[in-house]
Amino acid sequence: MFRALHNQARLVLKIRPVSPVLIKSAGSGLDPTRPEMEFVTIHTELGRVEYLPGSTLKGVMRSFTERLLLGLGKKVCDPLEKKSLCAEREHRSYSRQCDVCKLFGSPNLAGRLRVVDGLPWRVDAPDEERQAGRAELKREIRANVAIDRASGASSSKGLFDMDVLVGGALYPELSLRNYQLWQLALTWLALKELDTGFLQIGGGKSRGLGRVSCEVTLLEIRQIGSLANPDEVRGVGAVTGESLRQYRLGDPDRSPLPEGVARFSDGPLSEGRYVGEAARSVLAATLASEPWRRFVEGGGAQ
Ligand SMILES: [Zn+2]
Repeated sequence: MFRALHNQARLVLKIRPVSPVLIKSAGSGLDPTRPEMEFVTIHTELGRVEYLPGSTLKGVMRSFTERLLLGLGKKVCDPLEKKSLCAEREHRSYSRQCDVCKLFGSPNLAGRLRVVDGLPWRVDAPDEERQAGRAELKREIRANVAIDRASGASSSKGLFDMDVLVGGALYPELSLRNYQLWQLALTWLALKELDTGFLQIGGGKSRGLGRVSCEVTLLEIRQIGSLANPDEVRGVGAVTGESLRQYRLGDPDRSPLPEGVARFSDGPLSEGRYVGEAARSVLAATLASEPWRRFVEGGGAQ
């Protein structure tokens, strides 16, 4: 179904390993001459490079969000369960989905959030920067002792090698389309959770693997038509006219831009581009916004 574009946000991330990171490639363990747990790579014009699959990052963010919303007393579905509420036909409309599926998607509905694979360079980086990013990546082979699950003792035959990432940076991108402000706030919260180390990526988390730093290097926001405004960040809850019926939200889904950052451009298509501290400031303001407060206090589905 064609759907009008009301707002859009793009976040370029820079993710660096703090402790060794292991994102296991699907085929690893099959070739006896290679490490049993091999880091995932992808073919690019510069040859094979290590990368962070968008699905891995999205999965980590989704599971954090599920736990958080359950803690807030909201009902969320289990995506692994076939008979989940959001997979039922009669729950096909946006407003009938649980809050996790609204953001991340369900069998019935594409989510608002898309996560693009993180390569060792920014999407539009020139060649030199790509070469440099690739050269900066550092992998190490770590021997690891398997723990016998039954006895808890280390098992002699269970020694295996792990191929981990210990240096360099990966640059995944997030994009949100037709989002409500609480969804931008939740996305920011999940990224902060990664950066502080409470949330880890990949395998071996219980052994301390997978801690990363996560920086938003660039934030671009576009607001179109009834959401265009130079001074406010606006979500689809605030759309007026024809689209209002489609979302059935009619919510004051708006929040002032924080002090000290550039206003959005004026006109029917308002845009803002923020790097570094300004990007963090705009995102942090969503957590202080009224729409976020209502979302947190609202209990059930919004
Ligand atoms: Zn759901």
